[in-house]
Amino acid sequence: MRLRNMGEGVGSRGLAACHGHPGHPDRGDRMGKPVIFTDLDGTLLDCVTYSFEPALPALRLIGEMDIPIVFCSSKTRDEIECCRRNLGNGHPFITENGGGIVIPAGYFDPRIFPVHTTIVRENECLVIRLGASYPALRRAIRELRSEGFRITGFGDMSVAEVAELTKLPRDQARLAKRRDYDEPFLFDGNEVETIKLEKAVWAKGFSLTSGRFFHLLGDSDKGKAVALLIGFFRQKYGEISSIAVGDGPNDIPMLELVDHPILVRQPDGSHNSCVDTPRLIRAEGIGPEGWNSALLGLLSGLEPVRK
Ligand SMILES: [Mg+2]
Repeated sequence: MRLRNMGEGVGSRGLAACHGHPGHPDRGDRMGKPVIFTDLDGTLLDCVTYSFEPALPALRLIGEMDIPIVFCSSKTRDEIECCRRNLGNGHPFITENGGGIVIPAGYFDPRIFPVHTTIVRENECLVIRLGASYPALRRAIRELRSEGFRITGFGDMSVAEVAELTKLPRDQARLAKRRDYDEPFLFDGNEVETIKLEKAVWAKGFSLTSGRFFHLLGDSDKGKAVALLIGFFRQKYGEISSIAVGDGPNDIPMLELVDHPILVRQPDGSHNSCVDTPRLIRAEGIGPEGWNSALLGLLSGLEPVRK
């Protein structure tokens, strides 16, 4: 079945045209099974209302084409499971900026998992842990504060304070505080102090990233988690066309890895200037509107590969 162009966003431009060049020698022109990795806050979800409604036309098309969507967010497992229920999504997902991968049991043949990977079975899911332990991150936050850095982590805040800061409803803010691998925090400091903070974090063996907040994390990022899943999806489907959508710096490692990286606009209408990966598709539209237009445009050029 050839899919119709849905007539929105990048319109009749298909997958190859979106690149703006004749074709990447070994990535863009292969039409494997599409697999989409997406950030949530500010990307698929509006950064103020957390609504995904503007993305519904593309979500419907993706459902019809039977394309997996993997959520890849700084959100916690509990928060993402809530989104998955709201969107009817049954695919694997990546939590806390790449700290963990959660795979529904039976989704992949367990024989494909690399032997050295630590996989824990929790209820109906398999969990691959890539991130630092949360108590270790909290210890580092306290040490940094005692070294003079004015930082406040989610673990220092009440549910009401996290709700106020994130504009999440209280029940969601409670889920946002249940963390395993990544500590979001506020930092009161100028650019020079931020560089000092970064050095202090590295000296402790941790790393920093930023989305809406700063995040303290271990040796994990969205890219490492996406790379593992791309390997699993290749085992499942053979050739795949990987697509990723994001809005900010913490999405860079994920965007750099995929065949079709997409950057949506920020609330002020600009594209984040830190993100400039090769082959980047700059979507027209803020957050979920950009998500919708870019994916409708990209997928309109694809013959779905069904399996
Ligand atoms: Mg984001």
